[in-house]
Amino acid sequence: MAGGPHAAIVACIHCFGPADRTAEGTEADGYRCRECGKCFTVDWRRGPAEKPLWPPTAAEAVLIEQLRKQRGIRPRDTNPPSPT
Ligand SMILES: [Zn+2]
Repeated sequence: MAGGPHAAIVACIHCFGPADRTAEGTEADGYRCRECGKCFTVDWRRGPAEKPLWPPTAAEAVLIEQLRKQRGIRPRDTNPPSPT
């Protein structure tokens, strides 16, 4: 539990959706995104999280939406187009 109890959920590094911790190490934890399904690792060697990392604050949510737009990711309240 390198990231501590506040780091059970973090923002996905790919789409900024919620990602659940799937593996716990001594220096880094593994996560899998609920929205895009990608897995990634967060390095916690600088220390565990000091506050809950999810949900994002209002200011963080604004930043996340800006980043999602920059990357061409649809807003979170929009359903992705169904593959045909
Ligand atoms: Zn994601």
